[in-house]
Amino acid sequence: EVKAKGRNNYLFFNKNMEENSLERILLENELKKAIESDQFTLDYQPKIDIKSGKIIGMEALVRWVHPELGRISPGKFIPIAEETGLILELGELILRKGCKQNKQWQNQGYPKQQLSVNLSTKQLYQKNLSDKIEAILEETGLEAQWLELEITESAFANISNAQTILLKIKDLGVAISIDDFGTGYSSFGYLKHLPVNTLKIDAIFIRDINLNPESQAIVNGIVDIAGKLKLNVIAEGIETNEQLCILREVSCPQGQGFYFSKPLSKEKFERYLKEII
Ligand code: C2E
Ligand code: MG
Ligand code: MG
Ligand code: MG
Repeated sequence: EVKAKGRNNYLFFNKNMEENSLERILLENELKKAIESDQFTLDYQPKIDIKSGKIIGMEALVRWVHPELGRISPGKFIPIAEETGLILELGELILRKGCKQNKQWQNQGYPKQQLSVNLSTKQLYQKNLSDKIEAILEETGLEAQWLELEITESAFANISNAQTILLKIKDLGVAISIDDFGTGYSSFGYLKHLPVNTLKIDAIFIRDINLNPESQAIVNGIVDIAGKLKLNVIAEGIETNEQLCILREVSCPQGQGFYFSKPLSKEKFERYLKEII
């Protein structure tokens, strides 16, 4: 067994990996420093009611501008943060920042809107997650009803563990959305066991929805199932009016994407809110 492992490791470590792992080690160290010195900000991307065109919420997306390396995308550093466990600290920091900002907007008289925060798989299975969430809500003064957690579908591989945790989160009054829905799991059956509120259809089905009848059929099917299960459903990655038209045709109630708005800095999001209200 040990031998087999050794051999796999060897095969795994090709030239590409060598470069990659140097970058990883660098980024891991920089991530630690960045957490300590708080180099992270949040962008906010509106979520839209497709019928009315009105904003119904916002998704917080973490941004990292390193003092020397510049902007580093979450697609690059989130996986490293997950593998190293740094995501627990980073995730808490993100949740706190988002809740604090949302509460501040409420206090400033902006219309109240739900805040969605992405939660990684490691975070979901950490000890005392619900206590941590509860403490952050308490600390920031944000009522639970304004918070939603986006969790990728692949995090639910172990249903009974996930169920216990999600029930605790639900008990707090926090909503749960399944992110990247349609890509992580082969069966809808697990939805029966999990207290989720929203299915967020992965952008991969939206990208070619106006060209590919299969994508359209899949999205149509997800919208139907969501309706029958009394779940909310939102399409992510809408970039064009053509895509939006098809989503209207299949009665998808909510959407998000560059067509409506890119993720916006705090300042730009405030300007956006002022323009539309
Ligand atoms: P996600 O949660 O599925 O977020 C959607 C991603 O698609 C975001 O990329 C967003 O900027 C981008 N996007 C939104 N609309 C469009 C569109 O119309 N077209 C295209 N091409 N892209 C669009 P981003 O911000 O780079 O984040 C990538 C992923 O990194 C996220 O996927 C999420 O899994 C993770 N992530 C981002 N922020 C956080 C965070 O605060 N915590 C955790 N745990 N993960 C995060
Ligand atoms: Mg998300
Ligand atoms: Mg997504
Ligand atoms: Mg995604």
